[in-house]
Amino acid sequence: MKLKLSLLFFLLTLTIYPQISERLAVVTSAGTKYIPAYERQGIIYFSVIHFAEALSVNYYYNADAQKIELKFINYNLKITSKNPYIILTGKGNQLSEEYQLPTSTYFIDEQIFIPLIYSFDIIKKASGNNLSLESGKIVLKGEIIPEETKTKTGFDITGISVDEKINGTLLRVKSKTRILTYTSSYKQNVLKVIFRNVNTDVENLKLTDGKGLVKSISAKNIGKDTEIEFTLGNEYTTNEVLNAEGSNDILITIHNKIFSRNEEREKNKSKWEFDVIVIDAGHGGKDVGAVGVNGVKEKDINLGVALKLGKLIEQDMKDVKVIYTRKNDTFVELYKRGKIANEEGGKLFISIHGNSTPKKPSDATGFEVYLLRPGRTAEAISIAERENSVIQYEENPEKYEKLTDENFILVTMAHSAYMKYSEKFSDFLNKQMGVDMSIPSRGIKQAGFYVLVGASMPSVLIETGFLSNKNDANYLKSSKGQNEIAGAIFKAIKSFREYYEKVMETEL
Ligand SMILES: [Zn+2]
Repeated sequence: MKLKLSLLFFLLTLTIYPQISERLAVVTSAGTKYIPAYERQGIIYFSVIHFAEALSVNYYYNADAQKIELKFINYNLKITSKNPYIILTGKGNQLSEEYQLPTSTYFIDEQIFIPLIYSFDIIKKASGNNLSLESGKIVLKGEIIPEETKTKTGFDITGISVDEKINGTLLRVKSKTRILTYTSSYKQNVLKVIFRNVNTDVENLKLTDGKGLVKSISAKNIGKDTEIEFTLGNEYTTNEVLNAEGSNDILITIHNKIFSRNEEREKNKSKWEFDVIVIDAGHGGKDVGAVGVNGVKEKDINLGVALKLGKLIEQDMKDVKVIYTRKNDTFVELYKRGKIANEEGGKLFISIHGNSTPKKPSDATGFEVYLLRPGRTAEAISIAERENSVIQYEENPEKYEKLTDENFILVTMAHSAYMKYSEKFSDFLNKQMGVDMSIPSRGIKQAGFYVLVGASMPSVLIETGFLSNKNDANYLKSSKGQNEIAGAIFKAIKSFREYYEKVMETEL
C-alpha cells in the first residue's frame, strides 16, 4: 500500500512538473561539470545558478524576488523567474539592453531555468564571447574569472566594519587579498555572501549586537571558501555587493526603506505635481562666502539673485509656491536647507552661489551648473570643499560625515530617482544661461555638495560667476547682471516644467 501511494505521487509529480532529468555539460579548463536541465517542447532549459557556479561567475541571487544577477567582467546579466525579459548592463558605462525571449524562464525546485537556445547569444556576449556551444555542451574558452594562483599564509579577511548611514548601512569587509569571486543571495532576512578561495579570521567577524539594518553577523570557513551571513532588520529593501576602489575590501550596501518610499511617491501623482520651488541663496550672516575683487560679498549676490528669481516665479507662475531657505542676511545651517526643502515638498531645489579662485585677481571666468555626484576632477573637489566649508560656522560640525566615495554610494542611490530630472534641468539651465548672460558657460559639472545631499528632489547648484575675476565680479554685483541670471534661471524653469509635466503624464 505504501509503495502504491508513493508511486501514485511520483506519477502525479511527473505530469504536473517538468522532469529535471537532463543534465547539461559545462566544460572549462578545470573539467566538465553537469548542471540540472530539462527539456520542454524540444527546448532545453538549464539552472542559472548552477551554470554560474560551474563557471565560477560571481552572482547575486534574491530567492524572495526570484531574481538572479550574473556578474561577468564587463557585463551584468539580470534574469527573473517566469519572465521572458533578460537585461544586460555594461559596467562603467550606461549601456543597458533588454532582450525578450520567445518563452519565459521557469522556477522549479527553487531554481530559475532559462531556455538555452534563446539565451545563449546574450550569455555569450555577457561573458565577453568566451563561451561557445559545441555539440550540446557549453564550452568556456578564455577566462571569465582569472585563476587564483597565490599561496596563502594567514587570513585574507581580517574584519568587518559596520556604518550607519541615512540611507542604509554600509559594511566593509576588510581583506588583505583581492577577492575575485563571491556570490551573494538573499532569503528571508538573511543575506548570505560566499567568498571563494579566502580564509577568514572568523572570531573577529562576529557581531552579536545589531547596528543599523544589520542585526547580527556570523561567518564560517567552509573548505576553501568563507560564508558570511548577515541577518537584516525589516527595514531592509535592497543590497549591493561590490569591490571597493583602491583596496582589496568588499563593500556591501544595505539599503533601507527610504527608497521604497520614493517608489511609492512615484506612484502617487498628486505628490509629483510641480507646485513648489525651493530657492537656496548660498551662505548668509556670519558666513559671507567668497569676497570679490571689487569688495562684493558672495552672500549678497546669492540673495540678490534668489529674490529676483523668486519674484519672477511669483509673478509668472502663480500656481507655484516659492520657498526661500533664507530671505535676508541670516545664517542657515546646510542640513537645514535640505530639511526645509523636504518639509515644504519641493519639486525643484536651486542653490545659488558664486565662484572664486584661491589667487585673486585671476582670469577664470564664467558660470557653472553642478549636479550632486562624487567630484572626480581636482577643480570640482576644491569647489566642493570651499562651498562645504560653511560647516565650520555651525554649532555641531561633526554631524556632517566626510563625503567619501562610500558615502556617495549611499547618497547618490537616494538621488538616483531624481538624477534624470536634475540632469535635464541642468541642461536647460546651461543652455539658457549661455544665451542670456554676458559671461560664458564653463559647462555642467559634478561635485559633492552637502547642501544638495539632504534635498529629496531634483536639485542643482549654480556657480554664477567668478568673484575673483574683475569683469565677472562687476557683472555679478550689478542689478543688470543679477536680473539676467534670474531671468535665465526662470526661463530654464519654464522649459523644465513643460518637460517634467509631459514625463509625468506619460509615466504615471
Ligand atoms: Zn558659495
